[in-house]
Amino acid sequence: MLPARSAEQEGAQPMADYETVVAGGTVVTAYDVFRADVGINGGTIAAVGLDLKGDSRIDADGLLVLPGGVDTHCHIEQLKENGGADEETWTSGSTSALAGGTTSVITFSAQFKGGGVLGPLAEYHRRAKQAMVDYSFHQIIADASDDVIFKEVPQVIASGVRSLKVFLTYENSYIDDRQLLRVLAVARRHGALVTVHCENYEAINWRTKALLAAGKVEPKYHAWSRPSMIEREATHRAIALAELVDQPIQVFHVSCPEVAAEIATAQARGLKVWGETCPQYFVLSADDMDRPGFEGAKFMCSPSPRDAAASAGLWDMVRMGTLDVVSSDHSGWGYNSPVGKRVHGTNAPFSDIPNGVPGVGSRLPVLFHEGVSKGRIDLCQFVRLTATNPARLFGLAPRKGSITPGADADLVLWDPKKQVTITNDLLQHVIDYTPYEGMQITGWPYATIRRGEVAMRDGKVQAPPGSGQFLPRGPYDLIKPTGRVPFGFDASAYEV
Ligand SMILES: [Zn+2]
Repeated sequence: MLPARSAEQEGAQPMADYETVVAGGTVVTAYDVFRADVGINGGTIAAVGLDLKGDSRIDADGLLVLPGGVDTHCHIEQLKENGGADEETWTSGSTSALAGGTTSVITFSAQFKGGGVLGPLAEYHRRAKQAMVDYSFHQIIADASDDVIFKEVPQVIASGVRSLKVFLTYENSYIDDRQLLRVLAVARRHGALVTVHCENYEAINWRTKALLAAGKVEPKYHAWSRPSMIEREATHRAIALAELVDQPIQVFHVSCPEVAAEIATAQARGLKVWGETCPQYFVLSADDMDRPGFEGAKFMCSPSPRDAAASAGLWDMVRMGTLDVVSSDHSGWGYNSPVGKRVHGTNAPFSDIPNGVPGVGSRLPVLFHEGVSKGRIDLCQFVRLTATNPARLFGLAPRKGSITPGADADLVLWDPKKQVTITNDLLQHVIDYTPYEGMQITGWPYATIRRGEVAMRDGKVQAPPGSGQFLPRGPYDLIKPTGRVPFGFDASAYEV
């Protein structure tokens, strides 16, 4: 029964239905593009419709209204084993994210070999209290000890950190097949997604030693140390072991189509295997690391960027849906800083140069230009790749990644015609360079709205530090096991 209207209400001017209305824009969702206003109450989307009336109005004439970007792979204020943390702090990283149209991120809680995970996770929570974007964590498992796997990880997952990350390479973080099986099994028992950095540790080490012995030490030999079959082998192995356990996985930062083909084969067999790629694999190539002097270090990330044919093939894999998330893999250190690329000096061999490129702020603009402006994907695909799919895969949907009544009012007002030459200062991160310096692009965010508040307008970020919220992730159907285990025997049910 409806409450009776009071005389006061009867006599009053008609009240607006919404606190805020984003008016006159073109809304883009995962599958539709249409003219509509968005009504916002209490930080959530209350209505999507025509001629909505609000106490305040944000004019979106001529702009696209997209779901706020969801970047499910960022390194922000990550702790280093020898003390200290990434240069990119929660405030600078959030500023860059909001400047580039991203409102939610998933960063990492690192474990160091011999240590636990609960202590570091508490420290990551403490640091993230400065965030201006909403956030969650992936828990890195670098040492699958009994204590960590059987006691600590179940608590981590129960606390809402519902994804684990493992490395199959890197001296300080790689795990072997037995440890990988234990991580997959604990994820299956407690309901978490496992994300995997797929490269073969032994093969990279073997080639690196030979390259160094041959005097091939410059940044460009980074690519020589890890050709694509090294990534393909590890991807194949991770998928096979995930199938053995019947545990869903996402393969991180797929660099080339032959790796994506391993994922496509798995998907065709009905396995829950997903693939992520990043803007750097569409835009950069191994040749960028062959720039004079130390300059090539700016483009060094792992897996290595390949070549133009690989980039073209990756777009095919995106259009086929094999790769359904584009994240930044934003790296938190700079070029000239003493703790960044030059940490071991500018004559350091490639194997001593920190990997990674910054990208949390440039992810949406670079992908929009290369994808939508160049006609490789449509607007809905762009929204799926950058917001809807990552939110769904990591248990943030429907609160994030979608323009739906009840969802958080996270929106980007996007100017699809604006022409911009990328310079590092536009990205507003603490990092002193971008690998996209000087790139001319079409399409740029005009404003970013986070839970109903204008967090960035015309390049000015105005969200206060500490206004971001932790996003606890409960169990969700997408990452449930398929129920198919070899011989019908579920080995993951045993703590071995
Ligand atoms: Zn990463």
